[in-house]
Amino acid sequence: MSLLFLTSAYGTPIVGENMPVDKSTINDSFPKIQYSSMSDKVRVVASFYPIFDFVKKVGGDRVEVSSLIPVGIEPHDYEPTIQQVQNAQTADMLVINGGGFEEEWVKDIDAEFLLDASVGLNLTGHAREKSNGSIDPHIWLDPTLAKQQVEKIRDGLITVDPANTAYYNENANRFISELDSLDRTIKSELSNCEKKDFIAFHNAFSYFASRYGLTQHSIQGVSPEAEVLPQRLQQIINLARDMGLDTIYSEELVDPRFASVIAQEIPNGKVLVLSPIEGIDKEEQNAGVDYLDKMKENIENLKVGLKCN
Ligand SMILES: [Zn+2]
Repeated sequence: MSLLFLTSAYGTPIVGENMPVDKSTINDSFPKIQYSSMSDKVRVVASFYPIFDFVKKVGGDRVEVSSLIPVGIEPHDYEPTIQQVQNAQTADMLVINGGGFEEEWVKDIDAEFLLDASVGLNLTGHAREKSNGSIDPHIWLDPTLAKQQVEKIRDGLITVDPANTAYYNENANRFISELDSLDRTIKSELSNCEKKDFIAFHNAFSYFASRYGLTQHSIQGVSPEAEVLPQRLQQIINLARDMGLDTIYSEELVDPRFASVIAQEIPNGKVLVLSPIEGIDKEEQNAGVDYLDKMKENIENLKVGLKCN
């Protein structure tokens, strides 16, 4: 994101942040043009990709948002640098997903205003990760829960920047209706499928599966970065054969060879991506891919594995 934008002598923005800045226009002719920093924008640090995308959607051009964890990096077990911590501490607002995702490092950050987008959400029952005693943090993969996170982000922005209340409300309403529409699309697209079970790379889809009446199995546990043991690969091969599943899902930010090894051992085996949307790769960043795009890709790939009509 450009840190500069052009204003006329009267303070009216004349060049948007995404427009190329032609410095040859900066001369002494009328109207006088000057660079100014974007200090009038609300500066928000989001912990990682989906939260970053939600803040962008609600904050629009009134907010300068950055992602603390770089969006091309798998965010589980990430440790922020000193500079990232300082950046988060000087921001007007730090937004985290919550549910334990940022637990390891957020306690060391003395934020101006910390917004936990999971507070008050119903993270109970099946969705809890009982194995390590913590809550399953993968809230954003259920669009109805994502919607509640967006409402909290909207309310947070209104708290730090009440002058733009109407603007944030309008953006949030628009994005929320897109999330509602996404929810309806997933329901209808997955309504007529042969299978209900799928094999994800890591255990990120409990809320999603619960919402759409599916059963998640996974190669990995709650973090995609743990070691994959050969016994585990064999268990998944057996599971896939027993259930007649031919699609093994991988992720964009992990080594696809684990999924490939399994797929080679099952009839008609293939590997597709089922993204936990914890980050996006370089190509996707360049193409401006967002949460909604990723969810739609997930639906298409799930339809293959679930054998939907
Ligand atoms: Zn995860």
